[in-house]
Amino acid sequence: MSAEGACDRPALEQMVRHKIVAGETLAEISQRYRLIPATLMGMNPALRNGKLPIGAEILIPPYNGIRVQATRGQTWRDLAELYKVRADVLFEINGCLATPKVVFVPGVNWSPNPSPVDTAKPGTLTQILTGYPLPTSAMVVLGYGWKLRSSTEQVAFHSGVDLAAKPGTPVLAVGDGTVAFAGKQGIYGNLVVINHHQGWQTRYAQLSTIKVRVGQWVAKGTTIALTGTSGKPSSAEPHLHFEIRSNSKLGWVAENPDSYLQRVKR
Ligand SMILES: [Zn+2]
Repeated sequence: MSAEGACDRPALEQMVRHKIVAGETLAEISQRYRLIPATLMGMNPALRNGKLPIGAEILIPPYNGIRVQATRGQTWRDLAELYKVRADVLFEINGCLATPKVVFVPGVNWSPNPSPVDTAKPGTLTQILTGYPLPTSAMVVLGYGWKLRSSTEQVAFHSGVDLAAKPGTPVLAVGDGTVAFAGKQGIYGNLVVINHHQGWQTRYAQLSTIKVRVGQWVAKGTTIALTGTSGKPSSAEPHLHFEIRSNSKLGWVAENPDSYLQRVKR
């Protein structure tokens, strides 16, 4: 750890204010400050219902992360273990104080379900997600897990399943939830991420047209996008890349969706 006095101004003191003007979207504001929408939603409760209050001032942190209130007796080491970040980093970016009070934790994605869920609890997923992501059951082109990529001859982790679907097929939300991301993201191409209750999340990738926006609430069965071939699909055949993730202290963990898809087959 660096000596006291050798640290930067605390991250929470480096926040800037942004006044929302008519026509601005959360995605635009996030991009302008190189942040993800979840960071701004976490920092500004007024943004969590999907509407942007025109004229309101919101707080913009210097980088992605969440603000947490340390409990009495909690040490930097405790917080570092809880959020899986380095204690020295946490200590330094929060002004090198002896004990943590209100703390900025870098790199943690804010989610509406702050407490990590017990994913082992049977029945949880069954109650929250009940839909199939396409209008009709589709063949699995590539399953979840470690796969050999024939093109590169390298083993790579496939975090979801590829369901055969011709381009332009409607993609359906598998449960009620809030859109946490809708846009382009690396190899995912056009991607929609939906946060559901009790720490479940679903991702729909390689899309063509996206029909929802960040912060929007969607009901199960809503058409959220059309399938496509954007990004870097792991299968050559046109498909929907579908993921189920659960919230944990490590972040959003990709689950094997096989048994789920078997159960909700149409
Ligand atoms: Zn895939």
